[in-house]
Amino acid sequence: MRAFLAASASAIAMLTASVIAPAMAASPAAGQEATNPFFVPWTTPFKAPPFAQIKPAHFMPAFERGMAEQKAEIAKIADAKAAPTFANTIEAMERSGALLDRVGGVFYNMTSANTSPELQAIQRELAPKMAAHGDSISLNPKLWARIKALYEQRGSMRLTAEQRRLVERYHTQFVRAGAALDEAGRTRLSAINGELAKLTTQFSQNMLADTRAWELVLESEADLAGLPGFVRSALAQNAKDRGKDGKWVVINSRTSVESFLTFSTRRDLREKVQDGFNKRGDNNNQYDNKAIIAQIAALRTERAQMLGYKSFAHFQIDDTMAKTPERATELLTAVWRPALEAAKRERTQLAALAAKDGITDLQAWDWRFYAEQVRKTNFALDEEQVKPYFQLEKMLEAQFYTANRLFGLTFKERKDIPVYHPDVRVWEVMDRTGKHVGLFYGDFFARASKQSGAWMSSYRSQENLTGKVTPLVVNVCNFSKPAAGQPALLSYDEAETLFHEFGHALHGLLSNVRYPSLAGTSVSRDFVEFPAQIYEHWLGTPEILSKFAMHYRTGEALPKPLLDKIMAARNFGEGFKLVEFLKSAFVDMDVHTRTERAGLDIAGLERATVQRIGEMKEIPLRHRPTHFSHIFSGGYAAGYYSYTWSEVLDADGFEAFREAGNIFDPKVAQRLYRYVYSAGNSRDPAEAYRLFRGGDPKIEPLLKNRGLTPVRTAAADRAGS
Ligand SMILES: [Zn+2]
Repeated sequence: MRAFLAASASAIAMLTASVIAPAMAASPAAGQEATNPFFVPWTTPFKAPPFAQIKPAHFMPAFERGMAEQKAEIAKIADAKAAPTFANTIEAMERSGALLDRVGGVFYNMTSANTSPELQAIQRELAPKMAAHGDSISLNPKLWARIKALYEQRGSMRLTAEQRRLVERYHTQFVRAGAALDEAGRTRLSAINGELAKLTTQFSQNMLADTRAWELVLESEADLAGLPGFVRSALAQNAKDRGKDGKWVVINSRTSVESFLTFSTRRDLREKVQDGFNKRGDNNNQYDNKAIIAQIAALRTERAQMLGYKSFAHFQIDDTMAKTPERATELLTAVWRPALEAAKRERTQLAALAAKDGITDLQAWDWRFYAEQVRKTNFALDEEQVKPYFQLEKMLEAQFYTANRLFGLTFKERKDIPVYHPDVRVWEVMDRTGKHVGLFYGDFFARASKQSGAWMSSYRSQENLTGKVTPLVVNVCNFSKPAAGQPALLSYDEAETLFHEFGHALHGLLSNVRYPSLAGTSVSRDFVEFPAQIYEHWLGTPEILSKFAMHYRTGEALPKPLLDKIMAARNFGEGFKLVEFLKSAFVDMDVHTRTERAGLDIAGLERATVQRIGEMKEIPLRHRPTHFSHIFSGGYAAGYYSYTWSEVLDADGFEAFREAGNIFDPKVAQRLYRYVYSAGNSRDPAEAYRLFRGGDPKIEPLLKNRGLTPVRTAAADRAGS
């Protein structure tokens, strides 16, 4: 059942894919009884997926049968004559959809880590089918009546804490999907959902088209002034792609724009580039997104109010750790004040440099250029000097060592587990007593068949309902593959990514719950990054670096001055980074806390928001509304704050170890294990955090980590609590 209750992110990805959807001829299901590996038990060690036997043609028949099986299981539950009980309804739903989970676990991992045109075609055909399958469950009125009855009796039934939590989660999820509405309401809700799917797609397609429509062609050496070789060759490649061989083209992508703004000494051209980037989706042409934003906001407000909430933000945040938009806003405000102060200090520094060039009015298009000058002078850091100290192999040892010191885990590489690509490695994970915990797959190197970025996922989630099911967890990264015989070397940021994803992996591996839909990472959006982000902190400690950061040729430990340089360079420019981020987060919150359905003037709202919080015109919003796809076509509507929220948790959480005077303190580690890494979604996240930390999270450690000084206000004292 994990497909239904968990992972809103994959649901969002499915929604986007469903609009592309040209159908592919269905693969013949007949005659696969004996040959389709999804239809027979797996005899591999730990029943790991037998990748060599799984062919693309096996997926669709397995999905079709999986949906049919679950449909029958759900009908049996919903139509039962017997009065609803925890066992015949909730537990029965948890047991449903086993085949779907099995095939989905493999399929979605393959489409992200090792895809092909064949798999992509299946993906497009599958997305609308899976969406409709989900609707058929969440909008089934008989099923809803049983869940509601159980929810109302939950106080008088004899349930474990986890069972009670599960009843509450089912109830919440069904209510939020609209199950409690009358028929007219459900019909309207479906219509709104359909309308929103269209509008949000239109939003992202407009943004794409408007982004493509803009370019700046550089004709001569004079236009290239200041640009280093790697920027020039990227711009030359852009020109080639656009049929302008021999010239250079700045395109409207973040990489292209930011590298130009960082290095170009041509102030007039910097202004043009900054302006083009800021105006994406806001050019009053056929791709303009302002009217679409107003329609999206109106429909979201209507849906939220149908479900009994004041605004869309109230609806959206109700089911997170923050709980209310007011608390999320308090946090943003508490970080905003010191961030603004820091940004003003940075501005003074940059303005002084700019004045030497005769610039007396520092503008947005000057910021990155002068920030780069400061960075070069004060924090000169050569990646080539750092990388030899961060060997992938040693960093793997480091992350395993940390898990051993904290949680007693040991890791043994196994060569007998099937893998889907020769680069993939597998480790068996064991607990203190040598008992099997699960398998950890590592797929570290970039290749064409892999999506960009880094992530954790599972082939199988932990559960104890249908027997002792151990997890199969994978980390996927995109590090550069070394030449044969050479060690893989990482930058400090990449080593941190490795630790981050391994934190997610431990959340899956250490999961110890009974019910599959509460397992591991199936927690709320503003809590799920906590176990990953807190794990990053161990990498930066002397205990880990002195043991594992050593030169691959000489074996020499990372020199302290070099480490200090790495850390100082990372903290430079925090004011700028936070201000551009927080401006967007405030706009997100202001759009989605509106209670009026009609009449959103997005340009006016953006101006009002920025004026209210304190302007700082030299730092534009990281995402202006007309191209803010996180909130108008992605999964972060009324949720852009979550990034900061999670950062409060990880900074404050790691402080618990510092306070104990030992970064591996067994007592603190035991609480972290019990209430966070092993607990999945079996508890409310705010309560889980308090049990781990002994109190609510405080914001000061975050400010300290970012090198900011807290500004004392009433809001700052309460925020993050
Ligand atoms: Zn993460």
